[in-house]
Amino acid sequence: MPRTTVAVLGLGTMGDPIAQNLVRTGFVVRVWNRTREKAEPLARMGAVVADTAAEAADGAHFVVTMLTDLDAVLETMEGEHGALGSMDPDAIWLQLSTVGVDGAAWLGQLAADHGIAYVDAPVLGTREPAEKGELVILAAGPDELRTWCAPVFDAIGKETHWLGAAGNGSRMKMVVNMWLLALTEAAAESVALAEALGVDPREFLEIMRGNPTDAPYLHIKGEAILDRNLEPSFKLRLAAKDARLVLEAAGRTGIEPRVLRATRDSFLRAIALGHGDDDMAATYFATAKDDYRSTRTTSGWPSSAPMTTSTDRSGSGSTGSSPSR
Ligand code: NAP
Repeated sequence: MPRTTVAVLGLGTMGDPIAQNLVRTGFVVRVWNRTREKAEPLARMGAVVADTAAEAADGAHFVVTMLTDLDAVLETMEGEHGALGSMDPDAIWLQLSTVGVDGAAWLGQLAADHGIAYVDAPVLGTREPAEKGELVILAAGPDELRTWCAPVFDAIGKETHWLGAAGNGSRMKMVVNMWLLALTEAAAESVALAEALGVDPREFLEIMRGNPTDAPYLHIKGEAILDRNLEPSFKLRLAAKDARLVLEAAGRTGIEPRVLRATRDSFLRAIALGHGDDDMAATYFATAKDDYRSTRTTSGWPSSAPMTTSTDRSGSGSTGSSPSR
């Protein structure tokens, strides 16, 4: 019998476009989010909005979790009205949240305790790839589930890498995150250094373009910083959580990832400065000189106009408004 019903639990930056793509592909989609209002646009697309995770999961062939962290997944799956209590015995749990190596093992055991099939499937890609259905899925779990899972993964991603036993998806995700978090920090610090040395950071980006040491991420994050376009594709506080997960995983092996430790320190400093809900490119503020923290704008370099970040717009920040927003 075809498996056509998917419950998506968690409709944040990633869960919302994932659910939308599943609806567009023709799945019967049930959605649940702790903050219900975020689910309403999906209802207009044809998804069924559930009041509880248990209600969403009841009768679904797949249950997708795309939540902040391990605690959020545990609360959603085994808390009051949690999904595990109502999942069909032959349903498959697709765990997409980034929970780290220990977290993935914990959830695998939880699934086994409930007799539920579990696929450890963290993803690579931020909001835009999620919207385009172009995520890269790092899937790990029993071989016999691959065929069943393929239509779901094809609806939300451009590639699925099957990496063996459950847990390997989250292991590989730690390696990927080591790279991309350090890359983001290097981009941010390079922009801050250009400013501090009195050379044009946009010219730096142009000089790098197409060179062997160039990276698309340098331009994505560098331009986001220079444009003060810090609407989150990936929130800085989640990036700090991910850096912690990498450090924990590395620590167990005896590896000391010094660059990542320094990267996390920068993330925490920028969060302390009020940028936790901005995009992770806002780690720039941990390094930028004071005059650049407060004077860069979307429209030029340099300028004396005040700037805005998404934190500021949400009312929890401290600086003024951007002329281009
Ligand atoms: P997000 O926008 O912050 O959304 C988080 C979601 O988790 C929201 O639906 C939130 O509900 C829910 N949530 C948080 N705490 C909860 C709790 N205690 N109980 C129930 N629900 C809870 O995060 P995101 O960017 O979508 O990321 C989701 C996961 O994907 C994270 O593990 C992240 O590390 C990973 N990831 C993100 C990206 C990215 O670029 N954004 C890329 C790859 C992987 P409310 O709406 O009620 O707050």
